[in-house]
Formats: sequence, structure tokens, C-alpha cells
Amino acid sequence: MKIASIASGSNGNCYYLENDNDAILVDAGISARQIVQRMANLGLSMSKVRGVFISHEHTDHVRGVDVLSRKYSVPVFMTQKTYSSYGKTIKDSLLNFFSPGKQMKIGKIHVNPFLKFHDAAEPCSFLVSSERMNVAVMTDIGLKCSNVIAHIKNADAIFLESNYDDDMLQKGHYPPYLKVRISSDLGHLSNTQAGLIALEHASVRLKHVFLSHISENNNTPELAFRTFNNFIKQRKDLKPKVFLASRYKESILVSLD
Ligand SMILES: [Zn+2]
Ligand SMILES: [Zn+2]
Repeated sequence: MKIASIASGSNGNCYYLENDNDAILVDAGISARQIVQRMANLGLSMSKVRGVFISHEHTDHVRGVDVLSRKYSVPVFMTQKTYSSYGKTIKDSLLNFFSPGKQMKIGKIHVNPFLKFHDAAEPCSFLVSSERMNVAVMTDIGLKCSNVIAHIKNADAIFLESNYDDDMLQKGHYPPYLKVRISSDLGHLSNTQAGLIALEHASVRLKHVFLSHISENNNTPELAFRTFNNFIKQRKDLKPKVFLASRYKESILVSLD
């Protein structure tokens, strides 16, 4: 499998996963034009993409999905509740509903959606499997729930939210209600929470980590990177490559084998 972050953060999320024959996107939170451009920068084309899987209805995860779907006739997958809250329309013939806990097959890619804690209608993370590799896409999580723990154990690679630094959030200029929302069990994961999840629950399988959904105002990529490494170095049995998923540009395309 090969994977890349196309965009990550509060102004848009999109993650690319492929095997030899097929590809999928998780979320389409920047414009369709930008998604296609950033994929092209990696030599990737929409002609291989068989589906876009939507984690939840927040704008930074759905912004480009209607245009992308229409323009490239690519099927969209989301839960019925997410669609009801989405507020726009996806063409009937391209719209597919999934249920959390029920596996889907796209060629030889298996997509397992599972529920997460976040302030959306029916928010899901995904474990995407192919060629004996498991990739967990886990952003916008308020809490390390049993689903997060269960799936990180099997992951060879993760897109893991590392949204905010506790100090920067508390001392920053966000209004109190927003600080509470971000750090609540229905908000986002801090650098510390992300590090602890990997430290306590990752298995020796874990080889690649994309620190994702990094806040522009309450975090820095360097701080997220340093905090994560400080936790993970306590695991002598683990030495994952750690990447920073950017809001401004695509990552490199990482081959998992
Ligand atoms: Zn969200
Ligand atoms: Zn988000």
C-alpha cells in the first residue's frame, strides 16, 4: 500500500490510500481543484480513485466532496446521519451509505468504519486494509475510546490527530467556550493524548505515523513532533517514521512495505 496526506488541519482534510489497482480518499475537505492539483504533484490521478469516504460532516472534511464526486463520477460513502447533517446533495447514483462496524470492500481494499467521540452527527474513523497492511485514519477525536485502542493495535500506519498543545491552547486567545470545546471529550486530541495513545497501545507493527490535524493557533508542527517523539522513544520496541501532515501542501507518498 501507499499513502499520503493531501491536506490536514482545520482548513481541510484529505487522505489518500492506494494499492496496485485501486485508491480511495478519506475526506475531501479542500476544494476539488486543490485535491486534484495536490494529487497531481505526487503523480496521482482521480482515475484510480474508487470512492471518497467521509468521516463526518464538518466543513473541513466535506468542502470539496460534491464537486469532486460530480466532476469525476466518484462514489461517495458516508453514514445516513452524516448525510442528513451535510446539508448539500450528492447525486443518488454516487451516494452510498455505510454503517459503523460494517466492513466495505473496494476491489482489494477493505474499509472498516468505526465510531469515534466528536461533536458531529455520527463521526467515524477508518481502518483501511490491503496487501496485509492496516492503516488507521483517526482525526477529530475527543477521547481515546475502546475503538481507537482496538484499531491502533493492528495498525501498520496511522494518520493520528495531534491537534493542540495544552499550554498554547490555555494561554492562547481563543474564547473560553472554544477552549472547552476543543479540549472536551467531543473535541480534539492534544499532542500529549496522541503521544500517550501510541505509547500505550501501538503494537510493534506500527512503522509510519502522520501527525495530523495540527492546529495553526494552538500548536506548531515542531511541538507536535517533539512531544510525540518524547513519548514514543519510551517504547524501545518501536521506531516508527513520523511525518507531519500539513495544511498547506501534500505530504510525500509513503510506501508501506
Ligand atoms: Zn470535526
Ligand atoms: Zn476536522
